[in-house]
Amino acid sequence: MITIFSPDHALHDAPHEFLDGKLIPPHEAPVRARIILEALERADFGPIQPPRAFDLEPIRAVHDHGYLAYLAQAYERWVAAGGDPAAVLPSTLAVRWMSRRSVGPLVAPGYYSFDLSAPIVAGTYRAARSAADAALTGAALLLEGQQLAYALCRPPGHHAGHDLYGGYCYLNNAAIAAQYLGDGGWGMGDGDTLDSYPPSPIPHPPQRVAVLDIDFHHGNGTQQIFYERDDVLFVSIHADPAREYPYFAGYADEQGAGVGRGFNLNFPLEASVTNARYLAILEQALIAIADFAPRFLVLSAGFDTFGGDPIGDFALTADAYPLIGQRIAQLGLPTLVVQEGGYAVAALGENATGLLRGLNGM
Ligand SMILES: [Zn+2]
Repeated sequence: MITIFSPDHALHDAPHEFLDGKLIPPHEAPVRARIILEALERADFGPIQPPRAFDLEPIRAVHDHGYLAYLAQAYERWVAAGGDPAAVLPSTLAVRWMSRRSVGPLVAPGYYSFDLSAPIVAGTYRAARSAADAALTGAALLLEGQQLAYALCRPPGHHAGHDLYGGYCYLNNAAIAAQYLGDGGWGMGDGDTLDSYPPSPIPHPPQRVAVLDIDFHHGNGTQQIFYERDDVLFVSIHADPAREYPYFAGYADEQGAGVGRGFNLNFPLEASVTNARYLAILEQALIAIADFAPRFLVLSAGFDTFGGDPIGDFALTADAYPLIGQRIAQLGLPTLVVQEGGYAVAALGENATGLLRGLNGM
């Protein structure tokens, strides 16, 4: 297994997030990646490499151009316009009946975000790009014949939609990698400019890709990006949104639309889910993936399903993760693991290496 990690993740170090009416220290902090990296080094799974540098084309394949331009300059424009230099956080969100586009430096954050848990600081965009590059490098390794790669991404990505950030996520690393795998890597960008996406001609038809999201929270961004597609199957096992974030998506009756109908599968679960219950649901998810017969699997891996997680309410123990990894490995698919959430920091190293041990058949 090859791990891809960039120290640039630490450039994203927000001073606070807004949760339940309180400004609190962010759960999503640089220590998370550091702890996982240290555990990986001790476990000796194989080489740990920096990401290759990709240009914007493969990111533009899933994200809106205006959104990316906003993210790249959000902090500098915010500060220049008199916003608090601590972090970009909107005061007004574009919602339902008031969603006209407005992109003034102090206003655009409310147009392009859906909550107050994703502050932008000076290094956020560079960190998010490094995470996307890590996922793309993992995808490139699979295209080159690797069977398993782990992109230790931070910030995470699965809540980021086509043109919306939130839930600690800015660029949807898993979706970017899934699109790249499906395209067979032709968005690599040698010589292509921003305006030439997609490059032509496409050398071969899109490959089928499955994204399995095992973060505690529904991968609402990934679902949105692929909702009307039949070449990418999205399967998510998560806390029932009637009870937990992201609240407004992730229900079982969200099954895709248009040609994508039937290619979006949600398993919303009750509180206090045990190892046995989780593994039984995972079995159903894996059957659906096997039936889809994808060429590649992208695994959005969050560890906030752990019983001790400060923002989750499942009851998984550390023993669950090697078993989850083993079962997923039995699909026999080239697999890219993309790091998502997990906030019980003291247990994060053990839980992440447990999943990877299972995936590695160790
Ligand atoms: Zn999560």
